[in-house]
Amino acid sequence: MSRKDARVVVSPEQLSSFKSLLQEQNLIYELLSDNLEAVLAKEFAQRSLVPLPQAGKGRLSTERYYTHEEIMNYIADLAARFPKRVFVRTVGWSYEQRALKTITITNGDGRANKKVVFVDGGFHAREWISPAAVLYMIDQLVEHFEENAYLLKDYDWVIQPMVNPDGYEHTQTGTTARMFRKTRQPYRQLGLTCYGADPNRNFDFHWNEEGASSSPCMDTFAGPHAFSEPETIVIRDLMHSLADRGVMYLTIHSYGNYLLYPWGWTSDLPDTWQDLDDVARAGGDAIEAATGTVYEVGSSTNVLYIAAGASDDYGFYAGFNVSITMELSGGGSLGFNPPESSIESFVSETWIGVRAMAEKLIEKY
Ligand SMILES: [Zn+2]
Repeated sequence: MSRKDARVVVSPEQLSSFKSLLQEQNLIYELLSDNLEAVLAKEFAQRSLVPLPQAGKGRLSTERYYTHEEIMNYIADLAARFPKRVFVRTVGWSYEQRALKTITITNGDGRANKKVVFVDGGFHAREWISPAAVLYMIDQLVEHFEENAYLLKDYDWVIQPMVNPDGYEHTQTGTTARMFRKTRQPYRQLGLTCYGADPNRNFDFHWNEEGASSSPCMDTFAGPHAFSEPETIVIRDLMHSLADRGVMYLTIHSYGNYLLYPWGWTSDLPDTWQDLDDVARAGGDAIEAATGTVYEVGSSTNVLYIAAGASDDYGFYAGFNVSITMELSGGGSLGFNPPESSIESFVSETWIGVRAMAEKLIEKY
C-alpha cells in the first residue's frame, strides 16, 4: 500500500455519499476544492493564451506552457541556428495529422553511432509540465552546450518533446477537457463514442494484462489491440531503430515524485535491476541534495502500481540498458496543473535529476 495521498474528483451529487464512505472506512480526507470547474476556469483565464508572432523562435521561456505548434517551431528554429549540432526529423503523424518530430542533439563532431539517450514527453495529454521539462532539457543541451558538453561527448540525445499532440491540444481547449489523458482516436462502445487509448498501455509487451482496461471510456483503455495508436507506433519504431545504440530510455510524466524502472507488468525484477536502480537513485539523490524534493525509486509495479503495456517496459525489452519513467512533482488544484509561476522551479529541478542520471550512465556504460 502506498503511503501517499490520493486526489479524487467527485461530482456534486455524489459528494455527501462519498464523504460517508470515507468516514465509514476511517480514511482521513481534506476537501481541496468545492468547485473544481471554477478553479480550472480561473487558471484558463489567467493564461497568456495569445501566442506572439514568431512564437517558438529563439529561446522559449518558462513563463508559460506552449502549444504544439510553438514547440515544433522552436525545435525547427534550433536546427536552423545550430545546423552542425541539432537535427530535427518528422517521424510520423498523430491521428489528427499533427507532425510528430524528434530533435537529435549532438556535439557536432560528426562521429557516427554514438550511444544514445532517448527522451520523450507529452505521453499523457493533461501532464503539461512534461513537455515543459523536456524543452528545458533541450535548452540546456543546446544553448548551454559548453557546460553540458561532457554529456554529449559519447552520447547523442534523441528527444521527442510531444508524443501525443492531439491530446495535448485538446486539453488546451477548455476546463472540461483539461484533465483528458489519452490520444484522440474515437472508439465506440455500446452506442457511445469515447476518445482515445492510453498510449502508455498500448505497447505490445504483455499488452492489456494487468492494470489496463478494455473499455474505451476508461482512462487506462489499452486500445482495441496493441499499437492501435499511430503515436505509439512512432515510439516503437524509434526504439527499435535506436536499440543497438540505446543506453537509456527516459519518459517524462506527472505526477507523484517517482523514478520508476521495469517491470511494470509484474512484480518481478529484471536481472539487471541493480543497474537500473543505481541510475534512478543517482537522479533522486541529486534532486534531494539540490532542492530537498524526495523521489521514490523502484520498479513500477512495486513502487506505484501494476500497469502492463507501458513504454518503459517496451523500451527495456527492445534493448535499452536502462529504462525509466520519471513522474515529476504535482502542482495546482489537481496535481496535473502546476501554475505557470512554478514551471521554472519544476523544470530546473527535473534537469538536475536527468543530468545526474546521464552522469551515472556515462560512468557505467
Ligand atoms: Zn502520465
